[in-house]
Amino acid sequence: MQLMHKEGWIEVICGGMFSGKSEELIRRIRRARIAKQEVQAFKPAIDDRYHAESIASHNGLMAEAKAIQDPYEILSAVENTTNVVAIDEVQFFSEEIVEVCQTLADRGMRVICAGLDTDFRGQAFGPTPHLLAIAEYATKLQAICVQCGQPAARTQRLIDGKPAGKDEPIILVGADEQYEARCRHCHEVPE
Ligand code: ADP
Ligand code: ZN
Repeated sequence: MQLMHKEGWIEVICGGMFSGKSEELIRRIRRARIAKQEVQAFKPAIDDRYHAESIASHNGLMAEAKAIQDPYEILSAVENTTNVVAIDEVQFFSEEIVEVCQTLADRGMRVICAGLDTDFRGQAFGPTPHLLAIAEYATKLQAICVQCGQPAARTQRLIDGKPAGKDEPIILVGADEQYEARCRHCHEVPE
């Protein structure tokens, strides 16, 4: 009798900005490579904060990644020999990323997604909540609140140094926009 042992599952790493999501994703990628596993990494093409073809953390760690627009590009880019698929900034992908992750995990791949779980208003962000629901493993990281030093689950958006209102557009021309880590109590979203 042959014992059936199937691989393949989904891991999600979430939290606010500066919580160490990219750092943790890069750590998992490196460990998989040490274990001689084939890893392919992806990120949305819109995120060009650092480098077009790599995942970069705020503390300077980097891992190569292919920038893509459409989640289905992942399915065509993934090789049969790949063991691990890593996806950063997953909140920026359309809902179809959920089906793509399910397909890869069903095919026997370890899928690791990292992304924001809440937006600057403190509300659920894109497909991350759905991915959290279907994942086998979920890790929720905290940054340090820059105001009070407590664990920070939220991302404060500042425009010209002031808390951004809930209806502010995502891109404001000519304004100095910044983000910082804050806890629930220090997070401000003016009406
Ligand atoms: P994320 O992907 O969640 O935005 P990164 O992995 O890019 O986070 O960066 C995490 C790093 O950010 C930390 O190791 C630390 O060096 C730096 N950092 C800057 N501000 C903060 C903060 N307020 N709390 C925690 N880490 C911070
Ligand atoms: Zn605080």
